[in-house]
Amino acid sequence: MAITPQQRRPAPADEPSPGAEPTAGAEPTLAAEPTPAAESALAPSPAAAAPPLLEVRDLIVRFGLVRAVGGVSLELPGGQFGLALVGESGSGKTTIGRAVLRLVPAAGGQIRFAGADVTALRGRALKSYRRAVQIVFQDPAGSLDPRMRVGPTIAEALLAHRVVPRKQAPERAAALLAEVGLDEAFASRHPHELSGGQRQRVAIARALSVEPRLLVLDEPTSALDVRAQARILELIGRLRGERNLAYLLITHNFGIVSELCERTVVLYLGMVAEAGPTAALLAAPAHPYTRALRSAVPEVDPALRRSRVILHGEPPDAARPPAGCVFHPRCPLAIARCLTEVPQLAQVRPGRLVACHRADEVLSGAV
Ligand code: SF4
Repeated sequence: MAITPQQRRPAPADEPSPGAEPTAGAEPTLAAEPTPAAESALAPSPAAAAPPLLEVRDLIVRFGLVRAVGGVSLELPGGQFGLALVGESGSGKTTIGRAVLRLVPAAGGQIRFAGADVTALRGRALKSYRRAVQIVFQDPAGSLDPRMRVGPTIAEALLAHRVVPRKQAPERAAALLAEVGLDEAFASRHPHELSGGQRQRVAIARALSVEPRLLVLDEPTSALDVRAQARILELIGRLRGERNLAYLLITHNFGIVSELCERTVVLYLGMVAEAGPTAALLAAPAHPYTRALRSAVPEVDPALRRSRVILHGEPPDAARPPAGCVFHPRCPLAIARCLTEVPQLAQVRPGRLVACHRADEVLSGAV
């Protein structure tokens, strides 16, 4: 499920990427034409009646015989809110983000944005959606056109969505650069003349240029050195307040979610292992997988230096998932029941969902 730089490079903001359109066969529920209701649902709604900004229900994504996402549900309210999707490589977190952006087709389930069925959007409604939801990729070197200078890169998005008249585009691009902490002199540089952190700032400025309502941040710091990582995280934290931003933060690193995300969904082999308010989930993980991921980042809790849970082995082949609990081959708490019986995602505390036969024991500290 590797993603090439070419696949990662976003299309100009108003154009679907090649292959981005799902086939009719893959998505039999697609409506032929947008309804007025679907178009109007992309406009801000009165708070009292507002549906969640993003609502994913029982999402399934397949790549051939491989079920990359196996029935995931999640919800993101509008406004200043971060939802983290956390898991190792192959957990399905990036695929969920790409399905939200319609870069991969859903084989089942629903994705709704401000109440509108995303898979049914066409024409103006689809263009509005492509403006409202922007992505920042892991590798800014792969997502920026190496031949284009920074200013025109940002202006291209501004003009594609008619955010400003052509004459005002350079000025707006400079203001966006300033907003992400770059001097306007950067507008005349090419991507190769920038550091990794500076390139990621440009990618964020371009994403913000069309005034999105939702950002998909796909491992936005994992290609950067530690200092640049800290600065980009600080920038995201600042922008969420200034821009009233909602975002999906896709990461393998629990260390970055505590400051930036109100809610966290932990994924394993395309399914939700655990979900809940980030603070509660970090304070007392209820799933052994969450516990292991958290213990890998002792800065979350220095006491964890003494209780590191080593996770052995790799996630299993998604084409041949294990019977019972898919985590059982790596789980230090597996019992006989886990080898045959699939644990259902169930509420163990208000707002906390866990798929583990032993969640109550884990939460109570009995194991
Ligand atoms: Fe481990 Fe069993 Fe819980 Fe799966 S159900 S996480 S194998 S204890």
